[in-house]
Amino acid sequence: MSEQYKAFSEHLHKIGVVGSIGGLLGWDNEVYKPEKAMGIRSEQNAFISGLIHEEFTSADFVKLVQALLEDKSLSKEQSINVTKVNEDLIKQTKFNKEFIQKQSVIISEAFGKWHAAKTQNNFSLFEESLEKVVALCKESAEILGYEEHPYDALLDMYEPGMTTKKLKVIFANVKEQLVPYYNSLLAKKQVEASFLHNKFEKQKQWDISIEILKQMGYDFGAGRQDYAPHPFSIGMHPTDVRITTRVDEHNLSELIWSAIHEGGHALYEQGLDAEYFGQPQGVAASLGIHESQSRLWENNVGRSLSYWKANYHLMQNAFPETFGKVELMDFYKAINKVEPGFIRTNADEISYHLHVLIRFEIEVALMEDKIKVKDLPEFWNAKYKEYLAVDVPSNTLGVLQDVHWSHGSLGYFPTYSIGSFYAAQLFSHAEKQIPQLKEKIEKGELSELLSWLRTNIHVKGKLYTSEEICEQVTGEKLNFDYFMNYVKAKYDGIYK
Ligand SMILES: [Zn+2]
Repeated sequence: MSEQYKAFSEHLHKIGVVGSIGGLLGWDNEVYKPEKAMGIRSEQNAFISGLIHEEFTSADFVKLVQALLEDKSLSKEQSINVTKVNEDLIKQTKFNKEFIQKQSVIISEAFGKWHAAKTQNNFSLFEESLEKVVALCKESAEILGYEEHPYDALLDMYEPGMTTKKLKVIFANVKEQLVPYYNSLLAKKQVEASFLHNKFEKQKQWDISIEILKQMGYDFGAGRQDYAPHPFSIGMHPTDVRITTRVDEHNLSELIWSAIHEGGHALYEQGLDAEYFGQPQGVAASLGIHESQSRLWENNVGRSLSYWKANYHLMQNAFPETFGKVELMDFYKAINKVEPGFIRTNADEISYHLHVLIRFEIEVALMEDKIKVKDLPEFWNAKYKEYLAVDVPSNTLGVLQDVHWSHGSLGYFPTYSIGSFYAAQLFSHAEKQIPQLKEKIEKGELSELLSWLRTNIHVKGKLYTSEEICEQVTGEKLNFDYFMNYVKAKYDGIYK
């Protein structure tokens, strides 16, 4: 390794260390932080992000990156790392100090207003703030630049390479294929799932989640699970990747599939190459690919019949009064029941994407000035009626349900759907490439699937875009047919 490249990787490692301290503070924020520590925590966070920005954009480092861009002796991977860092540097220097300050004021105010509006079911409390957020996003898009659509600049922050045009094609498939298929399922005889809302002792649910995570290959020596109000996973370093979960005594899904989901995210973070910590090669490719990992484990594996052939005994042993009387097949059908609702995070595997579609249409319309913030509740409710045939009972349970817009995160929602669609495509290839994968899952042997994901996705980090990774693994770009075929094969069986 050249001296220059060594200095480059050491500097990024150092920034990675600072970032990991910020991550730990973020984790503590959600898990243990006492209420009164809010003020000092904001100062700590501001200090950490300021330090990262300073170190990353320091004149010496910028000079080093410029020199490395000309260095012909670098390996292919090294030169991709340098190029990607340079792209980030260009982006970071586009925003001046005034903009960053204005952004931080608008966002911190928006969160408070959103919270009050949601608690009091009063959209007008959030309206003005949201208008400022939308204006801020438009300004960001202009500063960052785009070729076709301002929304592309926002998408690019979460899913590099994704565009409004590509998403419109994907969501047209959702509308034309998934919506009618979903309606055809709703017209069939419904499956029985009320037993999933019996009483399930919290500690026993927790114990099952630990068993399940161990079986997936989640390394408890390099992570832990804790309770938090909102489940999430966070990777400080491949040797410290934590997950959180929540539990509801009367809803088995709250803990089990959320643990599998967050476990999927965590396996990705634990599988990143520690040697490249801080470099693009050592971080996740995109939010869409991250979500493909969590959804693959949660749905393609964790809601499959094969998976529960291996694990149903855990449920039956822990909760004999409920599952002693329920056949495996009925359990499998129940955990896959389709039921339209108005809350995104409670949605079934299919209707979930209709929730995302609505948010995508709204965000694009806002960016195109085709809709005004004040008309959002009405627009929202009409879309829910149109796509999900449900009446939204209140703005709290409607347009105010998600925190994302108050964070200024327009462009984020589509990554949830993209993740599921990537998951279906990747899993279909895993099934082809791993001999007898189904039989292995039925025996609870998941290690080959994990190694396959490690080799094909995790260790590549951000060396390639999601589109490139998808092509390398599956031979083609993101193709919605995989998801549609997966859904049809599964639900035709359940609702026959
Ligand atoms: Zn997720």
